[in-house]
Amino acid sequence: MRRVSIFGATGSIGQNTIDLIKRAPDEYDVVALTGASNIKQLAEDAKALNAGIAVTADEARLPELRAALQGSGVEAAAGAQAITEAAHRPADWIMSAIVGAAGLAPGMAALAQGTTLALANKESLVCAGNLLLETGRAHNAEILPVDSEHSAVFQALVGEPMDAVERIIITASGGAFRDWPLADLPNATLAQASSHPNWDMGQRITIDSASMFNKAMEIIETREFFGVDPAMIEVLIHPQSMIHALVGFNDGALMAHVGPPDMRHAIGYALHHPARAHLPVERLDLAAIGTFEFRAPDDTRWPALRIAREVMARGGLAGAVFNAAKETALDGFIGGHLKFTQMSDVVSRTLEQMDASGGHIDATMTLDNVLETDQMARKAAWDAIHKLGQ
Ligand code: NAD
Ligand code: MG
Repeated sequence: MRRVSIFGATGSIGQNTIDLIKRAPDEYDVVALTGASNIKQLAEDAKALNAGIAVTADEARLPELRAALQGSGVEAAAGAQAITEAAHRPADWIMSAIVGAAGLAPGMAALAQGTTLALANKESLVCAGNLLLETGRAHNAEILPVDSEHSAVFQALVGEPMDAVERIIITASGGAFRDWPLADLPNATLAQASSHPNWDMGQRITIDSASMFNKAMEIIETREFFGVDPAMIEVLIHPQSMIHALVGFNDGALMAHVGPPDMRHAIGYALHHPARAHLPVERLDLAAIGTFEFRAPDDTRWPALRIAREVMARGGLAGAVFNAAKETALDGFIGGHLKFTQMSDVVSRTLEQMDASGGHIDATMTLDNVLETDQMARKAAWDAIHKLGQ
């Protein structure tokens, strides 16, 4: 039996992971499940999978979680610290699917005990890529990509020499506003930004897809995962979301990864790696699909793509500032304090301000420094939001 834990179990990635595990319950011993506000789902899954412990991020909800688990034998705990402690529980495979920088500390804890980390939480790589990768190396712990593009690149690279790689192309659907007139973008509503043409995902990543901040994060994620020069990474708009990434080699060959837009593929690949196993995803009928389209991305429509390049050029803890500013700007948009197009202004201003105001970006990359810089950047981003709102 493989011991597995799922961090962010109640979210979109977490539920897809549970779907795969429930199909072969005898193969897995579920150590820990974590969630935040959806106590009902967390308790239901913890009981169904007979988990060792269920943890909610929200301390005020502990009595409710306890009550829901009464008599089941599943332990209950609450709070950020308890989540990180759950990551210390011995496991063979941990799904990191918390959304945001909150996923960093539990991911580090998992790697520090040598556990294989299936990484959906791209924010932790953007905030602290080197730290995460070095911790993995130091403890002989594997980090497997779960983001669909990065899983695709990872698969296209199997058996290939890295020095033959010339470029890595990650695709983007273009999100909800791909075909909108530019003049309409400032008036995009929350409901419009929260609906994705191809993928069914959590609300935050769906809005990040519309603004292309998701792709901006993924450019940085590609640099971290595959250790390539930023100039080798390209973004290609592909409205069908069926080619997830392509790797270009020095003999001119492009290896493309093609599959349905269903995260259970990338999750399942990471779950069974290095083997392949049967997965319950649609088999594509290419003749019925007929056409794959491609377009160049547009930095005017999606300034986030340009900002990602600036962040990589700046180096240091600029990634942590970028992620915190992006998360805060997103909170600002969701809360009705910002227009859709102002999110990128907030991120740019926060990066400029944090660069001008002392050594936070140049601090050594330790977990404490990253978390401190994250907090400083969130304050700076809220200041920028308030200024823009005046
Ligand atoms: P989601 O919003 O559906 O779920 C997020 C999960 O994190 C939930 O379980 C929630 O309870 C938990 N959570 C939220 N705030 C928390 C906090 N402060 N502390 C602890 N737990 C907290 O998100 P999602 O779409 O499943 O995305 C999860 C991660 O996977 C993100 O990093 C996202 O970028 C990445 N990802 C998602 C998809 C997708 O298809 N949904 C694809 C690629 C990558
Ligand atoms: Mg992706």
